[in-house]
Amino acid sequence: MAGAEPRPQIPAPVAGLLATLWRGGQAAYVVGGCLRDALLGRDPADWDLTTDARPERVQALFPRSIYENRFGTVVVRRCGVQYEITAFRRDVSYSDFRHPDAVDFGDSVEEDLARRDFTVNAMAWGGRPGDEPAFVDPFGGRDDLGRRLLRAVGDPDRRFGEDALRMARAVRLAATLDFGVEPETLAAIGRNAALARHVSGERICSELLKLLAADRPSVGLRLMADSGLLEVIAPDLARQRGLGQNKIDGEDLWDHTLRTVDAAPNTPVVRLAALLHDVAKPDTAADGHFRGHDAAGAGMARDFLAGLHAPRVLQERVAHLVRHHMFAYEPNWTDAAVRRFIRKVGPGCIDDLLALSAADNVGSGLPPDAFHLAELASRIQAELATNVVLGRKQLAIDGNDLMAELDVPPGRLLGQVLEDLTERVVAEPALNDRAILLDLARRDISDRRLVDNRSL
Ligand code: ATP
Ligand code: MG
Repeated sequence: MAGAEPRPQIPAPVAGLLATLWRGGQAAYVVGGCLRDALLGRDPADWDLTTDARPERVQALFPRSIYENRFGTVVVRRCGVQYEITAFRRDVSYSDFRHPDAVDFGDSVEEDLARRDFTVNAMAWGGRPGDEPAFVDPFGGRDDLGRRLLRAVGDPDRRFGEDALRMARAVRLAATLDFGVEPETLAAIGRNAALARHVSGERICSELLKLLAADRPSVGLRLMADSGLLEVIAPDLARQRGLGQNKIDGEDLWDHTLRTVDAAPNTPVVRLAALLHDVAKPDTAADGHFRGHDAAGAGMARDFLAGLHAPRVLQERVAHLVRHHMFAYEPNWTDAAVRRFIRKVGPGCIDDLLALSAADNVGSGLPPDAFHLAELASRIQAELATNVVLGRKQLAIDGNDLMAELDVPPGRLLGQVLEDLTERVVAEPALNDRAILLDLARRDISDRRLVDNRSL
């Protein structure tokens, strides 16, 4: 391989850190995911260094560095970017299927690489200034990189038994890198999938979001399903497998979900909504229909994300999209109907809902703008462009006006009257005038009082 060996492109500040450590008499290497990404020509999320220097020594070499954790990591800032320099480590025993019970400093870079998860993440690169930097690659990481394969370092059953998060990392990395999982490693995920229950919701959530941010999340999602990991992490989604759909010949509901996710724009909200939009179909299936799967699915989507401790806004927005994904636009909708639709969905969610619908169309083997979606989108744009009233806040009067002018006490009646007025104005924007609205409110109040008296 000599001569033709690919060299990673290392940013100048990283090369500077390596040089300082070597000149200080220490061994130091670029290591892990950043080296993998650099060799693949991808922009690494962060650059990590490993060294035989203990944290105190690293701090002495970099006077303004920060050392404030128990894992031997010193953080150095260069040009506003943080770099982590970690002493060689060796993991001791694992008893909770997730964290090593203790972390010891190790003696060699090989030992440090041996505790890492996959061969492509278990390479190091560095060398004395003046010498040609060299790879340390005891597990064949570069060969696996060439084959685009994720292979566990050492015995996969043992490695997943030590830390079950590694299984979620495997399917996530397969999706983000567009790699396969080596058969023995994949089979071990199947045997150990149940251990994923020991991983915290937050960690699963973070891996799932990274997986969904891949160009084709289906690569990882399919591996999750086929290995049995999906059954543990998202049992309701696992039940979509084998459920028939009259959409694409020979494909089931899970295939439809995967196509929809791949077609969805790459934002966490829309990708999650695409993943979960039909989550209630297995539960609601009857006579070839799935009645109420939108409302039931919204609840299930919220519960699933709450179980992963996803941020509350993410839970709510995804549930809202799932709740509304079954609208059936027809070109004969009046402009008022279009405005009522915007009001129901919320102007801030409408673009996401249309994007989800377009993806759902693609997932059903249709063009993205099937069911007149493009026409609906342009009608919505036209309404929004005129600053039309879509909520109470845009009415020409507010609760104070009603209290002052019509003597309405604060409370339920006031809220109902404002709601009625908003509906009237959404349907007929010309009514948004102070005098007209007060007049309408006066009549509304007397009608309501009449009804109340009658029902007494
Ligand atoms: P990315 O940064 O793209 O999310 P990564 O592989 O770089 O992916 P990091 O969390 O940055 O992930 O971890 C850096 C390196 O630490 C990994 O490449 C791997 O060598 C090692 N590593 C991370 N998590 C584990 C784990 N659970 N078990 C063993 N090694 C791990
Ligand atoms: Mg990384």
